[in-house]
Amino acid sequence: MALRADNLHQLAQGRYDVLIVGGGVNGAVSAAALAARGVRVALIDRGDFAGFTSAQSSNLIWGGIKYLESYDFRLVRKLCLSRNRLLQSYPASIREIRFLAAIPRGFRYPPWFLWLGAWLYWLLGNGFTAPPRFMPRGRLEQEEPIIDPGHCRGGFEYSDAYLPDSDARFVFGFVRTALDHGAVAANYLESLGGRRESDHWVIRTRDVITSREFDIAAKALINAAGPFVDEHNRLTGQQTEHRHVYSKGVHLIVGRLTPHSRVLAFFADDGRPFFAIPMGERTCIGTTDTPTASPYTVVTDEDREFVLDNINQRLRLSRPLTRQDIIAERCGVRPLAIRRDAGEAGDWLHLSRRHVIEVNPHDAHLSIFGGKLTDCLNVGDEVCAQIQRLGVARPRPEQIWYGEPPAAVRERFLRQARKADLDRLTEPGAAEPLSSRLWRRYGAVAFDLLDAIRHDSGEAEVLIGGCMRCEMRLIQKREMIVKLEDFLRRRTAIAQTARPEEISNAPGLMATCRILFGDEAQAKWLEYCRENGL
Ligand SMILES: Cc1cc2nc3c(=O)[nH]c(=O)nc-3n(C[C@H](O)[C@H](O)[C@H](O)COP(=O)(O)OP(=O)(O)OC[C@H]3O[C@@H](n4cnc5c(N)ncnc54)[C@H](O)[C@@H]3O)c2cc1C
Repeated sequence: MALRADNLHQLAQGRYDVLIVGGGVNGAVSAAALAARGVRVALIDRGDFAGFTSAQSSNLIWGGIKYLESYDFRLVRKLCLSRNRLLQSYPASIREIRFLAAIPRGFRYPPWFLWLGAWLYWLLGNGFTAPPRFMPRGRLEQEEPIIDPGHCRGGFEYSDAYLPDSDARFVFGFVRTALDHGAVAANYLESLGGRRESDHWVIRTRDVITSREFDIAAKALINAAGPFVDEHNRLTGQQTEHRHVYSKGVHLIVGRLTPHSRVLAFFADDGRPFFAIPMGERTCIGTTDTPTASPYTVVTDEDREFVLDNINQRLRLSRPLTRQDIIAERCGVRPLAIRRDAGEAGDWLHLSRRHVIEVNPHDAHLSIFGGKLTDCLNVGDEVCAQIQRLGVARPRPEQIWYGEPPAAVRERFLRQARKADLDRLTEPGAAEPLSSRLWRRYGAVAFDLLDAIRHDSGEAEVLIGGCMRCEMRLIQKREMIVKLEDFLRRRTAIAQTARPEEISNAPGLMATCRILFGDEAQAKWLEYCRENGL
């Protein structure tokens, strides 16, 4: 926790150009973009980074084919281009994936219309991905026998993209980029609100771990609190033209349903798209889309029933999935931006999923409403442009702030990994060679891991969830782990792919805790057990 302690100290002492409240995707990209361009940035989150909505998504980077139904072509075009830009910039962390959509019998549109929609979607995305492919019923049955043909009139395949690690890991990458460019960030540090004093903000903060309070001073304030944007604006006296409404979404994670790595797409009983998404050795099923009044949600029995019923009806499984098959659950709210004067939300499903950045130049204040992971690079760019208009200088305005290291660096890493015969250490049953996994997760820092293993083969010992001892040391130094859950659920997806009982009995867990927490290992393990009802 040395990194966090150090950063807390700096936050209490320094004065910043910009303070960002909220370390979900919107706050993280804002921090990365501004810090890379030379702005002095402070970033805080009252939970873990990506600890709220940004850890509950479908892990998809997609153009939003479903928004074609609401004729929101502008949004689909924008999201498709954002997806393409992300695919180009993150060749290891974001992968194109095929979606196989089954066309239900008696559906509200004829198959030819959906097929046309698939081509329109492809064209709106500049034909960047593999083209769509029609699948008559016989072919569908042959290629994906798990889909119950009794329910459909054939299907079609099209492409989008997904995050093979996870949404939270992807978002943490932006926090890390911000830190690498000199930003000062701390998780578990809550903003209690504050005031504008002549030319700067003074925000009172509380360390959630120790309850210590102190002020942070900054010229400009960015409210990236996701579903809590309105709440935080109340704490700072900001009036906005927009506000959030919430849509709850649930996913269930079960054992792997099909050996093929493609997303199975269906239309659920309520007519909404519904997916079975590959997640390593697991499948993630969902999601739901229901209005809710509060950002705090839990998975109810009704949600579980809806998801399980829908998947059981559409697949030919050796036996129907039941609650006992659920390994982990995900549940969150989509913060959707509407105009404050719009009254009731109206047609729920057709509410726009666009983001809105509202600026109050008088107070040097920005509020980020709505958005999607897919849209994140646009949010970062727009925040940079707006901040400059507020009079905050960007010493390096042209600096690229996103993307993986250049292909030549990757080639050098893979060459060195081959020379060291690194892939002989790949775990049996792993979905990919160790060298690809390390490069994807750590980028150029993976060279340090290679060095550590070359110097001491004991550093390659796997402790938990495929993670090696040397990775744990790196994570401890660079990834600001405060609770065991931060490591198990957000820096890795271990807690999404194994049951809590399995995790707490894993042989390498205590060694992991000792590296991450030193003398506090036992206490942190007990805290995890308590918080997970073990
Ligand atoms: C079920 C579901 C599926 C989705 N699927 C996809 C998908 O497949 N693809 C896609 O592109 N998008 C998807 N989304 C949308 C996407 O996940 C969200 O739009 C995005 O994660 C929102 O990020 P955010 O940064 O605005 O909010 P958050 O991630 O919620 O971050 C806000 C942060 O602010 C912090 N905070 C709040 N108040 C304070 C305070 N007072 N002090 C300090 N910190 C504070 C919170 O702790 C939180 O971490 C999905 C969303 C849901 C719910």
